[in-house]
Amino acid sequence: MPSVVLVLPRSGYRNEDFIAAASKLGVEVIAASDVCHQLADIWETAPVSLRFRDAQAAADELAREVSSRKPLAILGVDDLTALVAALAAEKLGLPHNPPAAVAAARSKAQSRERLRAAGLSVPRFAVVPLNEDPDWRDFPCVVKPLTLSGSRGVIRADDRDQLRTAIKRVAALLRSPDVAERRDPDLGRVLIEQFIPGPEAALEGLLVGAHLHVLALFDKPDPLDGPFFEETLYVTPSRHPAAVQDAVARAVSEGCAAIGLREGPIHAELRLSPDGPRILEIAARSIGGLCGRALRFGVGVTLEELILRHALGSAADPPPREKRAAGVLMLPIRKRGVLEEVRGVEDASRVPLIEDVLITAHLREELVPLPEGASYLGFAFARGETPEEVEAALRKAGARIEAVVTPRLPVA
Ligand code: ADP
Repeated sequence: MPSVVLVLPRSGYRNEDFIAAASKLGVEVIAASDVCHQLADIWETAPVSLRFRDAQAAADELAREVSSRKPLAILGVDDLTALVAALAAEKLGLPHNPPAAVAAARSKAQSRERLRAAGLSVPRFAVVPLNEDPDWRDFPCVVKPLTLSGSRGVIRADDRDQLRTAIKRVAALLRSPDVAERRDPDLGRVLIEQFIPGPEAALEGLLVGAHLHVLALFDKPDPLDGPFFEETLYVTPSRHPAAVQDAVARAVSEGCAAIGLREGPIHAELRLSPDGPRILEIAARSIGGLCGRALRFGVGVTLEELILRHALGSAADPPPREKRAAGVLMLPIRKRGVLEEVRGVEDASRVPLIEDVLITAHLREELVPLPEGASYLGFAFARGETPEEVEAALRKAGARIEAVVTPRLPVA
């Protein structure tokens, strides 16, 4: 049986979907993770245990562990595991993105530098050490950590006072134990860049031999003006005019070339500014959270299957997304506290066009909103004839769901 290595983060949302896709395609999964032999239910056999902190060391160890099993491909599922996978694939001579490109995609500073060097329009930006008062005068701007994701630590500032406050807040986040444990030198610096106005869009794509196939273009109908940038609604197909959609695809294709990405899934976020589409970021992985479940291709093919098929060399021309409109609502965490109960889930599930409502947060878990938080309360999915009705259904469902939290007692 052919085998594929999946490099999976300990608490990744998508691990099960990738494992299910492999099983549907009849491919054996060799799992690798930072689980320290703590066997999660989804894995039938213990995964290769790695420490991701040093991506190169993790990749060397992974290559050593799996080479005798002759896997056909090595895949990661998020920013960090994609880098480990690319490095290990390079060692074993398997198809892969250039690791330097995957590393650049993961670093917001390197991405900006590569995009600018290629002559693409980027906002003015500066990388500043956390302990310096930056000489930045271009407002509004946003402050971002260099390697976190999911809008974590991304804060808008409209003047110098707000900028100082924002940097202090990001600094505290970067010092918090779950982030600081990465011991990444990038945790000592932040990116400041001009705020780009305009509606946002997200492009899900697959690179095949450096050619970008657009799998889906999502509109984000909720305005994202800050000060924090909570992702909520994603709806596809896009309602923007065809010319705008083409311009987005062109910008992303040029962006991938500038960063050096050539193979596999990409997820790009853009602002449709008055001067044209502007790339916020291109990640060398597919969409995060459970959002990929909003997508279906051809006859019931999932996003994860499509990615695996490509990795195994059989998706030169990926099937198009289904004809129907689809969307996902990332249920945001609005209030900090210990989760006691989630109300209204059944009620939300009964809204016409809603296909599923999944609560991914656990009871008694502490919920942390953005900009510090790193997770969602859950996800709601809808399908319908038009993006308008999908959006309306998701809004209706979201309004019915309420997280009941109690304040966490201070540690004595
Ligand atoms: P992450 O990888 O954490 O998602 P992004 O760079 O994609 O980081 O930023 C997250 C969100 O913050 C974006 O989707 C957008 O809403 C907002 N944002 C980031 N940079 C800018 C910018 N330069 N101008 C306007 N909004 C921005």
